[in-house]
Amino acid sequence: MKDQTSRLPSWKIEARTCITAILVIIPIASVFLDINQLRSELEAANRFLLVVGPILDARTDERICPVHMLPLGEDVVPIEYGLIIPPENESHARRERFPFANSTIDEGCSVNEARRARILFCPKCREAKRQWMSSR
Ligand SMILES: [Zn+2]
Repeated sequence: MKDQTSRLPSWKIEARTCITAILVIIPIASVFLDINQLRSELEAANRFLLVVGPILDARTDERICPVHMLPLGEDVVPIEYGLIIPPENESHARRERFPFANSTIDEGCSVNEARRARILFCPKCREAKRQWMSSR
């Protein structure tokens, strides 16, 4: 009988610790699940906008690629937002070797609803860019 009463306080402490852990874990798990759900909803919204959202018209007046002397075609490409630092020497290579690759366009830090843009491109520029990227 004496043995059972001496074990009771330690059992109470364990129950209190367990309840405290549950009270801490449940809100943390709830926030984690909410963030994951929000993230997946945002990704779904981005995918939706990438497929059916508005298309920014980023076409210019040029009609001929100045490097390859080919007529430019039209394409719809993804828009990249944010501070994008191009790989080393890409700006120079782009001007000299593939000015109309336009496989994506950079719209800076001001994010708009449009996730795609209608652009003009040169197929030889895209090929030259692919070769330049693989040779680096
Ligand atoms: Zn070209």
